[in-house]
Amino acid sequence: MLQATGIEKNYGELHILKGVDLQISAAEIISIVGSSGAGKTSLVKALLQRIPNLRVCVSHTTRPRRPNEIDGRDYHFVDVPTFEAMIAADGFLEYAPVFDNYYGTSRKALAEAFGRGHDVMLEIDWQGAEQVRRRTSDPKSGRAGCTGIFVLPPSRAELERRLRERRTDSDAVIARRLQDAVSDMRHYHEFDYVIVNDDFERALGDLERVIADGSRELRADRPQLRPLLDELLA
Ligand code: 5GP
Repeated sequence: MLQATGIEKNYGELHILKGVDLQISAAEIISIVGSSGAGKTSLVKALLQRIPNLRVCVSHTTRPRRPNEIDGRDYHFVDVPTFEAMIAADGFLEYAPVFDNYYGTSRKALAEAFGRGHDVMLEIDWQGAEQVRRRTSDPKSGRAGCTGIFVLPPSRAELERRLRERRTDSDAVIARRLQDAVSDMRHYHEFDYVIVNDDFERALGDLERVIADGSRELRADRPQLRPLLDELLA
């Protein structure tokens, strides 16, 4: 749990909310990461309904807006020069190229999501989560100031089914997405917790437990995950 009040929050070596005027008390950053097909987005939506103190930070992206998306709600949609100007101005806590587009968590959006002591969830990729972990860690103890959660699909077959269901892509594109998903999943061990999204309600309950007070049984290094990981990462 992070404790701070004032206009600036110092996580480790970086002032992540530099220049932003707000009060934070006992708020926490939770990174949630999963390959496509893991079902992370639906879980986050349901979680926001269940945990009143939780907010999700609205990311910036340079990818085009999809028809069902709203600027400022789903993402802040910006062009590449704007994104690059924000990078130059140190406007991001983290950013990364994902599928040929930039995605990033701006310090301003993070500050807005914190509001008055809300916990904030970052729905990002593993590269961004690595930056958040590094930038929020305490330089002395090396302990991360955030919680990292990785969501896995329940099997290779189900992952493939979900990737096919969602898109009308060719077999070659599906194969590429599967390959990308496997290389993303190889980063699971960089996270504190792993949630397996086999049964939606159960996965949601597991996420709630992790956010409420952590849960030893759901830690990323639990031996019970081994057979699933062997299958997914083969
Ligand atoms: P999509 O374009 O399907 O909404 O998202 C593609 C990928 O970008 C997902 O893995 C998503 O988690 C990731 N992503 C979304 N927002 C951010 C962000 O702010 N930072 C990083 N590093 N990745 C993000």
